[in-house]
Amino acid sequence: MRAEHRALAARWFERLLAILPVAARDIFPSQSLLDHVPALILEISEYLRHPEDDAIASNTAILDKARELGALRHAQRASLHQLLREYQVLAGILVTFVVDELERMSVAPPAGDCVLLVGRLYQAVHVLSQATVESFVALYTKTITDQRERLEQFTRMAAHEWRQPLSVVRMGVTLLNTGNLDAAARQQTMETLQRNVALLAELTQTLESVARINGSDDNAVVQEVGASVIVDEAARQLREMAVARDVDLRIARDLPRLTVDVGRMELIFLNLLSNAIKYSDPAKPARYVQVTGLMEEGRCVLTVHDNGIGIPKEAVGQIFQRFTRAHTHRDDVPHVGGLGLGLSIVADCVEAIGGVIEVNSTEGEGTTFVLSVPTNPH
Ligand code: ADP
Repeated sequence: MRAEHRALAARWFERLLAILPVAARDIFPSQSLLDHVPALILEISEYLRHPEDDAIASNTAILDKARELGALRHAQRASLHQLLREYQVLAGILVTFVVDELERMSVAPPAGDCVLLVGRLYQAVHVLSQATVESFVALYTKTITDQRERLEQFTRMAAHEWRQPLSVVRMGVTLLNTGNLDAAARQQTMETLQRNVALLAELTQTLESVARINGSDDNAVVQEVGASVIVDEAARQLREMAVARDVDLRIARDLPRLTVDVGRMELIFLNLLSNAIKYSDPAKPARYVQVTGLMEEGRCVLTVHDNGIGIPKEAVGQIFQRFTRAHTHRDDVPHVGGLGLGLSIVADCVEAIGGVIEVNSTEGEGTTFVLSVPTNPH
């Protein structure tokens, strides 16, 4: 290819770069990805300028950018088909641009040069798409492996958690069947049975929640709703538990409105509120959970504060991980059942709705969870 044609092609791409923000959204449809497209095109133009040194394939910076792109598209749950299609669209736009510019400037380079230029262009896009696809597939494979491991661990733990109350129930039924219990022993056995059946029901509900959030997004109901409606509904379901532990549920009126996956949001509050009730402090004269909210820069910020037993400093960093329980070592805390899954469900839901959650806790004083969710997910 003649030098002036190479220089011309490179200049065209720089011009394309200047006008690109209009078309870039069609190529990689997200704000963070838009940043990548100009960088990729700039490198393609450099490559066209110096085709003799395999510039793109040896340019680690741009390959890193292309890999980063794969990671971003993976995080956005794009499909491999979408990713390949996006690069195809990018190549198409670049070629169309070259043809348009040739016509606009009435330049007619020899056919050989045109073929070379287009060939180079496709080659550059191919090298970049390969790097993107490689990182995408590597992350995809890792996600599947991690999920399988988590599922195996989860099944083991769930079976383990089920076994104990189940054997208590079995023993209780055998005892009742013998028929030679006096009234007091019979009453005590019945109470033990009730407690353990309730625990099994709670475990079942948790397993159902995990299955629901790990399932497909097809059933997600995303709608505009007042956060009060969701929080009030969660509180309604937990009222009995709160009364039993004498915990006052104080929910602010008129929490902000937002457009959100209502099911996931309700699951978040069911878990946060039930924990706040479960880990309330029997030593305090008045126990409460307080939910407040405000709007902040297009986000709905909701705070769940309790004056419960708090979380030990060394455990705060781990509580969102699966099967983590922070109070198992304390004899003074009344036994409260749980799989150590509630907050991992919360973390999954928060991620799925594009939110962020933080926790602050002081042992003996109480715990505050701050959830920030975009008021409009699009
Ligand atoms: P669990 O089933 O044990 O309640 P979670 O995942 O919901 O599991 O919570 C993990 C751990 O975090 C709990 O076992 C508890 O030690 C701690 N925790 C969660 N919420 C609170 C809270 N509001 N106050 C004190 N500790 C809490």
